[in-house]
Amino acid sequence: HSIPSDARIFVTGHGGMVGSALVRRLQARGYTQILTRTRAQLDLLDQAAVYRYLVEHRPDYVFIAAAKVGGILANDTERADFLFQNLQIELNLIHGAHRAGVQRLQFLGSSCIYPRDCPQPIREEYLLTGPLEPTNEPYAIAKIAGVKLAESYSRQHGRQYISVMPTNLYGPGDTYDLASSHVLPALIRKADEARVRGDEQLVVWGSGTPRREFLYVDDLAEACVLLMEQGYDGPLLNIGTGTDVSIRELAETVMQVVGFEGRIVFDASKPDGTPRKLLDVSRIQALGWSASTGLREGIARAWADFRRGQA
Ligand code: GDP
Repeated sequence: HSIPSDARIFVTGHGGMVGSALVRRLQARGYTQILTRTRAQLDLLDQAAVYRYLVEHRPDYVFIAAAKVGGILANDTERADFLFQNLQIELNLIHGAHRAGVQRLQFLGSSCIYPRDCPQPIREEYLLTGPLEPTNEPYAIAKIAGVKLAESYSRQHGRQYISVMPTNLYGPGDTYDLASSHVLPALIRKADEARVRGDEQLVVWGSGTPRREFLYVDDLAEACVLLMEQGYDGPLLNIGTGTDVSIRELAETVMQVVGFEGRIVFDASKPDGTPRKLLDVSRIQALGWSASTGLREGIARAWADFRRGQA
């Protein structure tokens, strides 16, 4: 590949699901200088500390996988935190990287930055063509700002700061806390606990009709590192599987994998969110990448990870 194996690569958010997958992938590709900092070592909300770190360590490449993230309920309730913390992290890292002379950076966004009711599958050029889904508008606004920051530093200063938009992610290192997690880890946990307790039903939020696309996080990491190595020049690229399922179908698949045979009950007091969120992935597929982990296989692996965490 085009990047020397001793390039200095700073992965922010390495303790999280995405950051840890990036570190695994970079290690597997033979990179020897992967820089990481825990929150205790470097608070990404602290502008002066972030600038200092970047100037001192001058990475060749920065991945922004650090973010405040969560499921539909956390996004809807901790609205100020989602907006403020994500904006601050992006501002500190993107402007800090520029000040430190970092030429290449990859910012991780999310498919929820696209308009709520945009045509499906969602193409990159639909960004900023309509109103956002209200439940995660603060998070989406922060991520859109990050995309525009990266793009603007590239255009004004000749940097190669690009953004990738992953679809809904899951896998090892996910959050299984029912109040703040996304749907897939929540269903894995609920189905596993229902099986162990011998329950008769599984409670699924909303109506079960919204459709979502799910990408196994190691597949995402493979794509991100490939784009870094290819020197992909942005500004914006979707990363997904190209296939979606309804929340009801998802719950049924999780139940089959986990071996829980009860019935599904829908809790209509919880929000559905966006009716459908499926990315158009023809651009990244044209670069020679497609997702390799099937949904059933990925759920089985994520379930194993959940059970390791319980042990
Ligand atoms: P979203 O993709 O931003 O809407 O975030 P989520 O992954 O949190 O939710 C996706 C969909 O799954 C929404 O329609 C939720 O109502 C639905 N859902 C069903 N059961 C659950 C659950 O137990 N937890 C979560 N977070 N969502 C659930």
